[in-house]
Amino acid sequence: MWIDGAAIGAKETREVHDPANGELIGLAPVGTATDVDRAVSAAMRAQADWGSQPDEVRAETCRKLAGVITQNSGELARLLTREQGKPLKGIGSEFELSGCAAWLGATAEMSLPVKVIQDDEAARVEQHYVPVGVVGSITPWNWPLLIAIWHIAPAIRAGNAVVIKPSPYTTLSTLRMVELLARELPDGLLSVVADGPGVGEAMTTHPDIDKIMFTGSTATGKKIMAAAAPTLKKLTLEMGGNDAGIVLPDVDAKAVAEGIFWGAFLNNGQTCAALKRLYVHDDVYDEVCAALTELANAVPMGEGLDENNVLGPVQNAMQFEKVSRLAAAAPEEGGRVLTGGSARGRTGFFFPITLIADAKEGMACVDEEQFGPLLPIIRFTDVDDAIRQANSLDVDLAASVWTKDIDQGREIAERLVAGTIYVNKHGEVAPHIPFGGARYSSMGVEFGIEGLAACANIKIYNFAKA
Ligand code: NAD
Repeated sequence: MWIDGAAIGAKETREVHDPANGELIGLAPVGTATDVDRAVSAAMRAQADWGSQPDEVRAETCRKLAGVITQNSGELARLLTREQGKPLKGIGSEFELSGCAAWLGATAEMSLPVKVIQDDEAARVEQHYVPVGVVGSITPWNWPLLIAIWHIAPAIRAGNAVVIKPSPYTTLSTLRMVELLARELPDGLLSVVADGPGVGEAMTTHPDIDKIMFTGSTATGKKIMAAAAPTLKKLTLEMGGNDAGIVLPDVDAKAVAEGIFWGAFLNNGQTCAALKRLYVHDDVYDEVCAALTELANAVPMGEGLDENNVLGPVQNAMQFEKVSRLAAAAPEEGGRVLTGGSARGRTGFFFPITLIADAKEGMACVDEEQFGPLLPIIRFTDVDDAIRQANSLDVDLAASVWTKDIDQGREIAERLVAGTIYVNKHGEVAPHIPFGGARYSSMGVEFGIEGLAACANIKIYNFAKA
C-alpha cells in the first residue's frame, strides 16, 4: 500500500490469480481500519497546504500526473490485463491507460473561477469554490484504473486530499498506479489502502473523511449512504445501470449492428453504461438478430496478453456465476439462444457472447443488470410500449435510440428516463460531458465543470457597501 508518502506492508496477504488461466500473479496486501486512520491523518495534514496552493499549481500537477501515466502505461497495462482480464489491445488495458492520461489532462484545463454574484451600491457578493477536505474514493473492478482517476483527478484539482480503497478484485493494478502518482505529490495527499475486513466501513464512517466518491453497485451505494449519514459526508454515488436501447423500424440492420454490439459488449459487457436490454421493432428484428449473431461469432476471445484477442474472460467467479445463471434461466423462461449460452469447459472465466432472442420483461436476464457478455433482445411492435418497458426499471444510467429519423430520435429521447440518452450510439463518456444516472443509478454527476464543482464547497463573501 502507499500511505503518507511511503510503501506500507500488511500483516496479511492474499493470492491474486489471472482470470484467464488461474495462474498466481501476485500477493495483495490486506488492509485494516488502522491503515485507513493513518492515511486519513496524513491526508488532513497534506490537504491543509494543498488546499491553499494557487490554482495554476494544482492544474500543473494534474498535467504532470497525466505524464506519469503515459510514461508508465506499458507496465500498468500489462498488470491490468493480467489482473482484470481485459485485452491489452483494442478497447482494453492500453485504451484504459490512455483514458487515465486524457482525463487528468482535461481536468487540468478546467477551473472553478470566482463568480461575482452582485456588485452594486448595496453589496459585493462573491462566490468562491473551496476544497471539501479529505475525499474517500471507493472503486469497482471493471475499469479500475480509469474510475480511480475519475475520482482522483477532480478531487486533487479542486484542492482535496484523497484516500482510495480499490476493489479487492483489482488491488494490484490500482496500488501500483496510485504509488506512481503519489510519488509526484506531497506526502499524504494521495494514499491507497487495500481492501480488508473493516476497511470499507472505516472509510464510510470516518469522522475526518468529508466526502465519499463511490462507483459500484446500487446495493452497495445504499449501504454507503446509510453508513455515511451519522457523519453527514458529501456523496457522489455512481451506481448500477440496466440500460435500454430502442431500435426503430427505419434502421439498416447491418449499418447499426456494430454500434449496438460494442455498446453492449465493450469490456465484455462489464461496463456501467453498457447497453443491457435491446428492444427491436418487429420489422427489423430478425435482421438485427442475424447481424449481431454474425458479429458475436467473429469476435476473438481469449487471454488478454495475446494481441489477437478482442475480448478476455469475465473478471471474477462471482460475475461468471451470475452470467451463467442468467443464461441458463433464459431458455426456461421462454428465451431463444442465438449464440453462446454456456461456458464450454475452458480454463479461466471465459463465457461466450450470448444473445437471447424472444426475451420479455419479467425474465431474469431482462430485469437484472447482467454486467457481462449477455444481451436479451426484446421484440416490439408499439413504440409507446417499448418506451414504457425501457422506463420500467429504476436503474437508468443511459439509454439509446437507433433510427435514421433524428427528429423521432429526439422525441423518444425526451420520453426516456436516464442520465444520458444517446442517438445512434451507446456508452460514450468524455471528460467534458457531465455523466450520471437517473433514479437509483446515481447521486450527483461526474465529469465536466459540474463534476469538478462536486469536489468543492461553495463559500460566499458578502461585503456591505452602504
Ligand atoms: P460493488 O458495489 O460490489 O463494489 C464496489 C466497491 O465498493 C468495491 O471497492 C467494494 O469493495 C466496495 N464495497 C462493497 N461493500 C462496501 C461497504 N459496505 N462499504 C464500503 N465499501 C464497500 O460493485 P462491483 O461489483 O465492484 O462493480 C459492479 C457494479 O458497479 C455494477 O452494478 C456497475 O453497473 C457499477 N458501476 C457503475 C459505474 C458508474 O459510473 N455508474 C461504473 C462502473 C461500475
